[in-house]
Amino acid sequence: MKATRMLISTLKEAPSEAKIESHILLLRAGMLKNEVAGVYNYLPMGVRVLNKIENIIREEMDKSGSIEILCSALQPKELWVESGRWMKYGPELMRLKDRHEREFCLGPTHEEIFTSMARDLVKSSKQLPITMYQIQTKYRDEFRPRFGLMRSREFIMKDAYSFDKDEAGLEKSYQNMYDTYTRIFTRFGLNFQAVLADTGNIGGNGSHQFMALSDIGESDIAYCEACNYAADVEKATSKLDTFEGLAEGKVEKIHTPNVGTIEELVDFFKCDAKNFAKTLIYHDFMNEKFIIAVIRGDREINLVKLVNESNSNENYLKMATDEELAELGFVKGFCGPQGKDKFDIYVDYEIAEAKSLYTGANEKDYHVKNVKYGRDFNGKLCDLRTTVAGDLCPVCGKPLKINRGIEVGQIFKLQTKYSEPMKCTYVDEKGNNVPMVMGCYGIGVTRTLQSIVEQYHDEFGIKWPLNVAPYHAVIVPVKYDDPAQKELADKLHDTLANNGVEVVLDDRDERPGFKFKDWELIGLPYIVTVGRRAAEGIVEFKDRQTMEKVEMSFDDALNKIVSAVKSL
Ligand code: ATP
Ligand code: MG
Repeated sequence: MKATRMLISTLKEAPSEAKIESHILLLRAGMLKNEVAGVYNYLPMGVRVLNKIENIIREEMDKSGSIEILCSALQPKELWVESGRWMKYGPELMRLKDRHEREFCLGPTHEEIFTSMARDLVKSSKQLPITMYQIQTKYRDEFRPRFGLMRSREFIMKDAYSFDKDEAGLEKSYQNMYDTYTRIFTRFGLNFQAVLADTGNIGGNGSHQFMALSDIGESDIAYCEACNYAADVEKATSKLDTFEGLAEGKVEKIHTPNVGTIEELVDFFKCDAKNFAKTLIYHDFMNEKFIIAVIRGDREINLVKLVNESNSNENYLKMATDEELAELGFVKGFCGPQGKDKFDIYVDYEIAEAKSLYTGANEKDYHVKNVKYGRDFNGKLCDLRTTVAGDLCPVCGKPLKINRGIEVGQIFKLQTKYSEPMKCTYVDEKGNNVPMVMGCYGIGVTRTLQSIVEQYHDEFGIKWPLNVAPYHAVIVPVKYDDPAQKELADKLHDTLANNGVEVVLDDRDERPGFKFKDWELIGLPYIVTVGRRAAEGIVEFKDRQTMEKVEMSFDDALNKIVSAVKSL
């Protein structure tokens, strides 16, 4: 392939909206072009990488026994009403109407479509189990699209859905996908971790996320080096801290003028933040009510856990405003759970471990001392706190550590969440209609592409692993109008191409330094320079991963590249 024919469009500098290295490099290397926030077009180099990533996923999915289909992004509202998600999905769902006022959405995911597919196409229980997958474009109206392909409004996902007769079958299908994902992310050369993930209101330990480890990741992972426990912080738990708080005693009102925040209280009472109970009031728009959460003063609430406990929805649970607090009889900065029995109160386990604690007095400028769970207030005990580094591992009790990760995939035991309401059933031996037991499995294809860049780059540009690089090698003649150089460069190009190597010949009329910069930025694994020793049949071979340069014969360079590509 000649470089003059390739629409190479590298940039000296990335547009200012690109904040992280992988996004900057994908734009600078001319892999992507951005039109509106969160929407990307893939340029020739980008498409080649994308195709390779998709093909690796496809190979492994096919090997796992899954079958490929392809669905439309356009989905009718009716199916989403059947599953109960048309409202619940919230503002991320891109909704639209056709000219006849019929409503649709652009699929953010395809559970409804695949469930309908299995319901209509699986005629006999003999066809079960079955796992279907697709590689297809998804739409999510993300509140804040950012970081390029990491969080975009249109992105490519590989999604798969398994249908089994029973739980035991689902276990097998799930494990099969877990193993398949492990193989896929290993083939991409990613440094990743599989971690326990939140399962929303389905419950159980039925989900894992695959995290590409990276400081720019948006997920925190709590993990234990001693026993390998690892969980997304949304899900992670820790061994209960049995801190006893204040002594048991009579409730006592204390004047605390203008002392509202935990920091101010710590200062005022000269004690650890653990001695306070933080009372948080939320407006649950989905269930049309207000709820209260109580956690220790040194803790942060884990909203996902609260959503699960209260059967609410992340999109519809908001902190009560100052006006709402006043209307409900609370005073901002001085809230307490005592005397608030008419609300649903959720209380973190640690609160019940304390003999008593300080809380707000529900009166301006006052707090109360010695407030005790079970005596002065009640509520549902549950785990509401965000796990932090140093909390003790729930399995083995050793201190947990925190890693950052990019969620590149997630697998999920859905059980009958969709098959039941959507009546996706099979007939069992007794003639009963039984809902199929489902799993669903997603890989963010475009997010994975960018995660590879995040883990494979240096100050010069991208360092693609050989199996996903847009081309395997590039030949850069120093002077393409020099007959000896031209002859050797052309011969190397043609011989490589005939041996199955994807190779570029940089025939552009540019200075060599300019060309090298481009190829280092684009990140092809092998850069071969044909220069002044061309007449002797000597070239310079550079490995992009190590940036090591070695002079070698034409044959050696040829063999090195061909054998690396053949061993893929
Ligand atoms: P996140 O928590 O990052 O918003 P999610 O859990 O909502 O993601 P899933 O529904 O599990 O995402 O989708 C499967 C995969 O699709 C994710 O693991 C992720 O890799 C990818 N993905 C999800 N949302 C986006 C997005 N806005 N842009 C790019 N990839 C995405
Ligand atoms: Mg997810």
